[in-house]
Amino acid sequence: MDKNSLVEKAKSHLHVLCSEIGERRVGSVENRKATAYAKKVLESLGWKTETSELMVIDWKSDGASLICNGMPFEVYSSHYSLGCSVSGELIAIGTTKQLEQACIRDKIVLLYGEIASQQIAPKNFPFWNPEEHQHVVSLLERGNPKALACATERNSATAGGVYPFPLFEDGDFDIPSVYMKDTEGERLLAYAGQTVELVSKAIRIPETAFNVIARNSSTSSKRIVISAHIDTKIGTPGAIDNGTGVAIVLMLAELLKGYSLKYPVELAIFNGEDYYGAPGQVKYLAQNDGRFNEILLNINIDGAGYNEGLSCFSAFDLPESIKGKLLGVLEDMSEITEGLPWYQGDHSMFLQNGCPAIAVSSMWFIENMDCQDITHTQKDNLSIVSYNRVAECAIGIAELVGRL
Ligand SMILES: [Zn+2]
Repeated sequence: MDKNSLVEKAKSHLHVLCSEIGERRVGSVENRKATAYAKKVLESLGWKTETSELMVIDWKSDGASLICNGMPFEVYSSHYSLGCSVSGELIAIGTTKQLEQACIRDKIVLLYGEIASQQIAPKNFPFWNPEEHQHVVSLLERGNPKALACATERNSATAGGVYPFPLFEDGDFDIPSVYMKDTEGERLLAYAGQTVELVSKAIRIPETAFNVIARNSSTSSKRIVISAHIDTKIGTPGAIDNGTGVAIVLMLAELLKGYSLKYPVELAIFNGEDYYGAPGQVKYLAQNDGRFNEILLNINIDGAGYNEGLSCFSAFDLPESIKGKLLGVLEDMSEITEGLPWYQGDHSMFLQNGCPAIAVSSMWFIENMDCQDITHTQKDNLSIVSYNRVAECAIGIAELVGRL
């Protein structure tokens, strides 16, 4: 297939995923439409697919309000939080030390400053869970407040480009919470000790989502797993994160048919990289428990196809022979460069289980991970996608897999 037709394929897949479907939060109808689309494309290209059902929750909110002395404050329901309609004394907590010493029982807690500077890892998140976060969560749960109001600043490293960001984004954490801008939190700080009324019209809805795994062979010899997550955060069409990744996997389903391959290939569409419990990843880990040695290499695509800068392939723990072939492909393709290591993607799950991996992304995002304001926002839409870059990534991966 020539590059022009690949560019057209990229456009057509991305139009379906990011324009017709749009936001693909786990548990939503749109998320299931997206996995059904991927499955249909893979099957139409002759791949044998397997879907795994994931028990998840969908989440919706009709808004939130916080009022003190007749004065309204702008707040938002924390994603995946329970709703509430409560009133109580406002207590302000700026540090973990203050939280350790305060009595927060039946109060409404304003978390601001240091304690609210970094998004708290979900209670059951399997890949990243700092002890200080678990400590804050357990202090809050033991303290038994009525609700939390969290004032947050910008923190691209843990919350993408979102400002303000929900301090808690955790369907397993049952203290109702809202979040607000740090500037709004400073205004509210003056009302500590007074009674506030807090309403959050949020609901959790039990739902399903799916992983889609496709294979081109049933032999059990070592396989190459090419993966991308299909879900988005709430409130974004998820073009670069990660419509392009899914589009590249679907393009590879077609491209790889033109190669005679030494190793079987598994194409994995994961569901949950941007969701609090990473259900699709947890499912895949369980399905492959003790069998990660059957995987020769993982190639995970996340953040590819940005219209500024080059694409990058980052290598992790590659054996010499694979590394040599990767460098050969990069030498032949001036649009793709070797990237720096980074770990906020599904390739980490393979690395943690002893598999070598390559992460396919855009150089600009790796370099600006800690200061960009695009990821997880409305700005991550098709207007920032380079379809050429998307096609080049597909060609680069196909070339590499063909040479292995
Ligand atoms: Zn992503």
